[in-house]
Amino acid sequence: MKRIRMVDIQSQYQRLHNDIDAAIKKVLESGVFINGEEVRAFSDELAAWLGVPHVIPCGNGTDALQIALMALGLEPGDEVITTNFTFISTVEVLALLRLKPVLVDVDPDTFTINPDLVRRAITPKTRAIIPVHLFGQPADMDPLLELAKENHLYIIEDNAQSLGAKYIHHDGTSAMTGSMGDIGTTSFFPTKPLGGYGDGGALTTRDDRLAEKIRMIYNHGARVKYYHDLIGVNSRLDTLQAAILRVNLQNLDQFIRARQQVAARYNQALAGVDRLQLPRAAPYATHVYHQYTVVVKSGNRNRIQSMLKERDIPSMIYYPVPLSLQKAFTSAGYHKGDFPVTEYLCDHVLSLPIHTEMEDEQITYITGILIDILNL
Ligand SMILES: *Cc1c(COP(=O)(O)O)cnc(C)c1O
Repeated sequence: MKRIRMVDIQSQYQRLHNDIDAAIKKVLESGVFINGEEVRAFSDELAAWLGVPHVIPCGNGTDALQIALMALGLEPGDEVITTNFTFISTVEVLALLRLKPVLVDVDPDTFTINPDLVRRAITPKTRAIIPVHLFGQPADMDPLLELAKENHLYIIEDNAQSLGAKYIHHDGTSAMTGSMGDIGTTSFFPTKPLGGYGDGGALTTRDDRLAEKIRMIYNHGARVKYYHDLIGVNSRLDTLQAAILRVNLQNLDQFIRARQQVAARYNQALAGVDRLQLPRAAPYATHVYHQYTVVVKSGNRNRIQSMLKERDIPSMIYYPVPLSLQKAFTSAGYHKGDFPVTEYLCDHVLSLPIHTEMEDEQITYITGILIDILNL
């Protein structure tokens, strides 16, 4: 059996190497490494794939969030509501811009932001909501879009983990994640659903005016080189990454199907295991399974993880610490007990290997060992 990895980028490269090598060679021969033709072509192709008018690439998914907040013109002290159960980027950029993160707890089934708690967190100072489409599954957008409309708030969708997932609105129509809010942000970090071979990110929007502003901010606030109308940042997508991402975008539908198949096999094999809560697919969405994350309802999660490791099965804890309890964030004044669902999840979740190259034999091995360990 092939060695099991959390994400097997090496095997994916082996499978696609003819196209990737040719794409890289073309860029090397062009000598245009910043804002080359491939960057524009990739943005256009991703925009078409997502069905949004504007995709503006940038240096990484964290910068994309920062640029989004800058483009919306939020000011120091403005409050932004976001989830406590996610990667650090969101609160990091809020802190850098002197905006006030207001954290709320998540839904115990989908692990995404709880709209009822968002409603209760709105104050006269609230300016925006940042839902995170976590682990491949959309946040529940309809109630959030309603709240935003009623209260004149912006929505930035953090779509770093769920590019390609669909949200199904109450009226039965569906929308791609990243296309519903004022701005969507995403990441092309190698392990993300659409990954490059380095850092990368993008913003998506339907708003022409915002798109123009974003196009200036990511490139030093300039529309014309050396004429700076706004304070911006330097956060561009490399031409090399764009060329690699074009190849991966061509394969993205297949990547998503492959992950969904792995998830289906896990679901089948682990269905009767009482001690696990398997990923619960929300009725309002499709799931692209960036992660396959179970909740270990009873037993010692960390011990189970080390026993898996002894049998050469990697696993990860996304995330071990709520944002509210991170050391970097103590000034916010949150305490243990403030966010019962997030705190419970941080102590009980376990993400199993899932990627586009997984083989049946590996899934059978993983689930067999996991069931044995749980039965001990
Ligand atoms: C990965 C990730 C980011 C940050 O993306 P980078 O490209 O690594 O900066 C932001 N938000 C979430 C939810 C992520 O998973």
